[in-house]
Amino acid sequence: MSDTPCSGPVRLHFPQAESRQDWLAPLLDAYHATDRGVDEAIRREQRQGRTLACGKGCGSCCETHTTIPVYPLELVGLYWYATEQMEREIRERLRVSLRAFETEASCPFLLDGQCAVHPMRPMACRQFNVFGQSCAKGEDAYHTRRGDVLTPIRRYQDEAFFHLLPFHGVKSKAERRRAIKKGTVHALAKVLQELDWGRLADRMDAFDQG
Ligand code: SF4
Ligand code: SF4
Repeated sequence: MSDTPCSGPVRLHFPQAESRQDWLAPLLDAYHATDRGVDEAIRREQRQGRTLACGKGCGSCCETHTTIPVYPLELVGLYWYATEQMEREIRERLRVSLRAFETEASCPFLLDGQCAVHPMRPMACRQFNVFGQSCAKGEDAYHTRRGDVLTPIRRYQDEAFFHLLPFHGVKSKAERRRAIKKGTVHALAKVLQELDWGRLADRMDAFDQG
């Protein structure tokens, strides 16, 4: 699920949308922190001679994982991206997938083995990377070979949460640091597969009807 160009991860930019919607820049900052952390963690492992197994078109993990945490601000980002930013053809296919989604099925954003919302995929998806061999169909490497799963670098995770927390009402720096240190930030997470994704399809319908 990684995205690691040689020069390091680049922050996503949607200048017009960021100027209109004040929740978007912190979310993009959080994703940038996450991506930089993943990039650094991968480089560390590669220096130890390890090979990243994840690559374009490899995504059986998206079918296998059934408890992907997603934070409310990330949901706002997913709603916005699917509703307003996607190319028409893939957006139509996503709408069908969202309508067909049943609780605890694989992720509704997985279309023909590709993530339809790749730029805005949640932090958990960005961080899940595996070394060595690619996952077998149905394998969750976290349980079968934990040692091959990338361990995120804590300070980048903390930085990402620091950007996220004001949206969730935790505004001051001291409060944010406390929520991160105590781990209470995790209580905000929902499970992606337990959400009613038909609502997003409804939102897309409403957007199209003006
Ligand atoms: S190697 Fe495993 S974790 Fe990596 S993209 Fe493929 S299925 Fe997902
Ligand atoms: S959001 Fe994208 S990367 Fe994450 S599980 Fe779904 S399809 Fe995979």
